[in-house]
Amino acid sequence: MDNCLFCKIARGEIPSSKVYEDETVFAFNDIDPQAPVHILIIPKEHIKSAAEINESNSAVVAHIFETAAKIAKDKGLDDGFRIVSNCGDSAGQSVKHLHFHLLSGRDFTWPPG
Ligand code: AMP
Ligand code: ZN
Repeated sequence: MDNCLFCKIARGEIPSSKVYEDETVFAFNDIDPQAPVHILIIPKEHIKSAAEINESNSAVVAHIFETAAKIAKDKGLDDGFRIVSNCGDSAGQSVKHLHFHLLSGRDFTWPPG
């Protein structure tokens, strides 16, 4: 997608604070962190949101969760972490490229607001 912010970040056309990258996923620090650790993990492929996950593209989602576990281990997030994907306007999705927030370093409330 030519005009997608996260596609541009994944292609390196817009700078980001990269945490991890491989052939299919890209992870970077959120520009407006909501916790001491706030990393976004995205597929390099443009998928609009969790509502667009299907049989043909779901393998990358499994790989994103493997990546989250790897990052959590590497960063020693032993006290716990939260993974969130906002889907659609009512959930507060502001960037229409599938992304998973990996949050850690503080306590989180439940249910979320
Ligand atoms: P959401 O609101 O769930 O769609 O999440 C989008 C996230 O992207 C927000 O937490 C923003 O702070 C973050 N964000 C927006 N632009 C950038 C950027 N250029 N680099 C890093 N994070 C960004
Ligand atoms: Zn995109």
